[in-house]
Amino acid sequence: MRKQILFIPGPVTVAESVLAAAGQAMIDHRGPQFAAMQGRLVERLRPIFGTTGDVVLLGCSGTGGLEAAVVNTFAPGERLLACPVGFFGRRLAAIAQTHGCEVETLETAPGYALDPQALAERLKADASRRIAGVLLTQNETSTGVQNDMAAIAAVTREHGAVTIVDAVSGMGASEFRMDEWGFDVVVTAPQKVFAAPPGLAMVAVGAQVWQRIERNPMPRFYFDLLKAREFARQGQTPWTPPVSAYFALDEALDRYGRVGARHVWMRLETYARAIRTGLEALGISIFSQPGAHSPTVVAARVPDGIDAGGLLRALREERGIVLSGGQAELKGKILRIGTMGELSQADVLGALGAIECELLELGVPIRAGAGVAAALRVFRAEAPVPSDAG
Ligand SMILES: *Cc1c(COP(=O)(O)O)cnc(C)c1O
Repeated sequence: MRKQILFIPGPVTVAESVLAAAGQAMIDHRGPQFAAMQGRLVERLRPIFGTTGDVVLLGCSGTGGLEAAVVNTFAPGERLLACPVGFFGRRLAAIAQTHGCEVETLETAPGYALDPQALAERLKADASRRIAGVLLTQNETSTGVQNDMAAIAAVTREHGAVTIVDAVSGMGASEFRMDEWGFDVVVTAPQKVFAAPPGLAMVAVGAQVWQRIERNPMPRFYFDLLKAREFARQGQTPWTPPVSAYFALDEALDRYGRVGARHVWMRLETYARAIRTGLEALGISIFSQPGAHSPTVVAARVPDGIDAGGLLRALREERGIVLSGGQAELKGKILRIGTMGELSQADVLGALGAIECELLELGVPIRAGAGVAAALRVFRAEAPVPSDAG
């Protein structure tokens, strides 16, 4: 198969050293080497979440982590306010509904971030505190939108509802201060910003929410966070962990630390801006609203008259550039381009060049080189940013 460059929003391109780490021989998951590794992982994840509390690693994808957050935190019949701004936010609401929670939805127009004022008004109207919990998305991968979590936190703190945050595609991409902002359970996964293979969920649990988890009658077994915490104290997991995924994340977090969080934030932000600017120079409009742009995924409208599926197929098969399309009702309407993973500025310029080639093939009247030139100007205006840890 020809070489492919992944611009999908997870799983992303993984560094050679991370792949090599995943290939190490198995170790005893009840032995000292595993315990030391788990300790190292938690130590390095805490500052990224902005917590001094527990970070529990579960053997599942990000969605499993979100299900764990829901079943441990809420009971059947409890009223929750879901605040989806896209597909993944609706999935989190569906998890809660599936487990018998009474979920009300605060709607937001596609492409927009959650309006903290609208949330404040809804929560203010809940004078009798019937709403037990609020379901939030930090970064909505389906629309390329990042929410203002500091502003949202101020509103949820005031009300006092328990908060679950899906930070799967945004944790590590911008500042997050879980403890200071007062979020209760925050979930992420390795195959997005951390550029490791999938297979784990990292679930941070605020110290203030454990009592609720202990009393919660919701049935759960594999995803019981109390069991996970009990075993974590011995440097273990209740069930066999995906040891290879641990090895890979260990190396990936080393790389993240060597580059430095701020440099990663800056790199993602710059790549996202270069892609947006490049696409706009080709007459392609950006789906997310100004002020709501995500640093990890750019969503752009498919030009009129263009078959999105055909364009994506041509880019993948003819040019080795793998992008995502839209999900659910946005299928065929948008393209999504991720910035995460081991991507260089040259990769970004190459992807824009490939998009130009395909648009020209399709007879779209663009000026050849306009997208690449616009992105290049963004890169030239920035201070040099390391594209990887080397
Ligand atoms: C990728 C993603 C998920 C789902 O994670 P899986 O690992 O595929 O289960 C959930 N939420 C968001 C915002 C995501 O981007």
